[in-house]
Amino acid sequence: MTARSPAPGRAARAGARLAQALIDWHGTCGRHDLPWQRQRSPYRVWVSEIMLQQTQVSTVIPYYERFMQRFPDVAALAGAPLDEVLHLWSGLGYYARARNLHRAAIQIRDAHAGRFPSDFVAVAALPGVGRSTAGAILALACGERFPILDGNVRRVLARHFGVEGDPAARDTLARLWDLSDACTPSEQVALYTQAVMDLGATLCTRRNPACERCPLSRSCIARRTGRQHELPVPRRRPERPRRSVFMLAAQRADGAVLLERRPERGIWGGLWCLPEFASAAAAAAYLTRLPGATPPLSPLAHIEHAFTHFDLVITPLLAHCSDPDGAPDPAQHAWYHVSAPGALGLPAPIQRFLQRLASAPTQTQLFE
Ligand code: SF4
Repeated sequence: MTARSPAPGRAARAGARLAQALIDWHGTCGRHDLPWQRQRSPYRVWVSEIMLQQTQVSTVIPYYERFMQRFPDVAALAGAPLDEVLHLWSGLGYYARARNLHRAAIQIRDAHAGRFPSDFVAVAALPGVGRSTAGAILALACGERFPILDGNVRRVLARHFGVEGDPAARDTLARLWDLSDACTPSEQVALYTQAVMDLGATLCTRRNPACERCPLSRSCIARRTGRQHELPVPRRRPERPRRSVFMLAAQRADGAVLLERRPERGIWGGLWCLPEFASAAAAAAYLTRLPGATPPLSPLAHIEHAFTHFDLVITPLLAHCSDPDGAPDPAQHAWYHVSAPGALGLPAPIQRFLQRLASAPTQTQLFE
């Protein structure tokens, strides 16, 4: 796919006005000093766009800086072990993003001679990159005219143009893409793209949009009709299920705890975690096969973690292990000590639990 021409007619004129207002606003009020805006390249923009999915700028910045220091280009990322990538991602959540970045880097190295592709179709086909992210990379890094429609932009457009309907529904989505296309200018595409993303992130926020400071307030339908909190129409979400699991915290005398690499698919895929079981009985049976492990299993305070579609409730079961090296499978298991963690990626709630386990002077504190 090549860069497209703007849509004709009234929509194009309204779009052009919106784009100009945003570009002017961005000159004085937009964000200009973000790390990925320096030495802009498709690689740097790509990494930032993936990190920014479902995560706020302030959270992303330190992760981005560390990631760029260790993986300054595609070759460095493709050549690194996945464990190291997940380690640098630990705490950022949505780990499929890190696995996809790594897979995509390998794909770029092997199928594109190590050069980030410049063709829209090739960019959009990279693991973890869809239409909007591909458009953002090419617009921001190369100034090519492609519309984008991430969550922030969807919200701005739905409010400004008064778009009704579930934004995830096919026809509403198609309308929003058309509007995004109509608003994307032929010139200053990078500036406009940054501006519309900034507006959604800083003023046209989900709750309490700052309409009085918004450069679009005069033409915004949601503002004129007082429907800022009704648009975009919220998605109907089914009730969140709760899933309960047990995790074994087998601890050696030196404080190290046995971790297991999780399968690639599923939650926390590829990360190192406490071995998980559906029941305490299954954990107890596993314990009998662990060299030097001694029952009983002591249940500790629950760990609760909210995923996008469900809540996970973990009951950690503490057991002691006298064998310093005993592990069922050395390729899939590792002894982990918080004071010498090594380059392993751990889910943030498990990392916090292990820190608490290491620092609790008495076991009673862990039951609270
Ligand atoms: S006027 Fe308010 S609702 Fe409309 S685009 Fe601006 S911030 Fe969003």
